[in-house]
Amino acid sequence: MKISRSCNPKQYKAYTNRNIQEISQFKSLSEDVLSAIRVVSRVLPFRANNYVIDELIDWNNIPDDPIFQLVFPQPGMLEPADFEAVRQQVDQKASDHVIGQVVTGIQDKMNPHPAGQMQMNVPVQKGKPLSGMQHKYNETVLFFPTQGQTCHAYCTYCFRWAQFVGHEDLKFASKNVDELMRYLDSHPQVTDVLITGGDPLIMSSKILRRFVEPLIQNKPGNIRTIRFGTKVPAYWPYRFLTDRDSDDLIRLFDEVIDSDLHLAIMAHFSHYRELQTDAVASAMKRITETGAMIRCQAPLIRHINDDPHVWATMWNYQVNYGATPYYMFVERDTGPKNYFSVPLAEAYDIFTNAYSRVSGLCRTVRGPSMSATPGKIQVEGISEIAGEKVFVLKFIQGRDPSWVNKIFYAHYDEKARWITELKPAFGESSFFYEDRLNEIRKGK
Ligand SMILES: *Cc1c(COP(=O)(O)O)cnc(C)c1O
Ligand code: SF4
Repeated sequence: MKISRSCNPKQYKAYTNRNIQEISQFKSLSEDVLSAIRVVSRVLPFRANNYVIDELIDWNNIPDDPIFQLVFPQPGMLEPADFEAVRQQVDQKASDHVIGQVVTGIQDKMNPHPAGQMQMNVPVQKGKPLSGMQHKYNETVLFFPTQGQTCHAYCTYCFRWAQFVGHEDLKFASKNVDELMRYLDSHPQVTDVLITGGDPLIMSSKILRRFVEPLIQNKPGNIRTIRFGTKVPAYWPYRFLTDRDSDDLIRLFDEVIDSDLHLAIMAHFSHYRELQTDAVASAMKRITETGAMIRCQAPLIRHINDDPHVWATMWNYQVNYGATPYYMFVERDTGPKNYFSVPLAEAYDIFTNAYSRVSGLCRTVRGPSMSATPGKIQVEGISEIAGEKVFVLKFIQGRDPSWVNKIFYAHYDEKARWITELKPAFGESSFFYEDRLNEIRKGK
């Protein structure tokens, strides 16, 4: 296979709140911005790297630059009183223990475990919960390898933020691929294994191989597809190009394809800027040359991509690279959601505006979609029925498969940001799925 390397190798360097001072030595960060980062990064995780800093961020546009907003903590991410409380402790050089107490209280208020992930998605086999796996929709099992529970940089809006600040123990991750194999053998409805994190492609190729090889050699159950959920093409494209074990990673992709499984790279791109560097262009080419397919998804986020032009441009780049636009998500109900969330009505407008100005090849994308407790719920439309203004909603995925593709209606609310803030339309007391969902909650 031809290897395209139109970029020079880059040595990875991470920046966290411990060496943030170094960034301010070579990029202009005002003392205000710097101190806000120091305060907020006590509560929410911060990690950047030299690719994000050198090639993605426009340093002439701080703090508004979308990639700066994507990676660097912002003061608005905390409630003003919380920000003040932490700032005072930091200014007084309080001990880590004392700051930690203030910080934990703030983190607890930020819904660290959204959408019943811990309680409802962990599968049970012979009475034993299988930590490190989630199984919510029939066809797809999620697998969380222990070594893949971090990322090359952290998104400020990350819905897994709790694990990066050590608020959540990593017991839910797994080292044990044998359990996964047995589970697949006893669940013939599963066709897809989604290896995710954090970011599984942060693992060395050697470790990743330990999880992937048993799947391609034994093809447990009815598995047809291996998916990787990853932001590495956006945050560190050199992973596919010039890292020490890049060639081995590409070889592993080849092996998956040669085993007649489908390899789906579920790539997280938040802004078209992430698709414009030489490195990402080469990486996309090298991935697709293996026969893997790249599908792209991201949430709609205030200050980062709340603009139809950004989405339309992003989808066009993706199709140019031979990748498939897949999902536009609604910002989840966790973490600094007040800073980042966009109301459903506005999300629907942005989606529709972007969707209407791209070719049909981009319209494989679905959204805006909420990954909520009952399932993936898409805002299909805003309409008026029998004199009532309503949201037209649809299940793209359902915890109960009989919900899938069902249309239902909620009373229109201009400010609502999540399904739990909506009321059923037409004076009904509950949504059609709620009784069944309560049964599932109780384990029936
Ligand atoms: C989105 C998601 C999947 C995959 O859904 P597809 O529509 O098949 O891409 C699987 N499990 C969970 C928990 C998800 O949120
Ligand atoms: S890439 Fe995903 S898991 Fe990693 S920080 Fe971003 S949103 Fe979180």
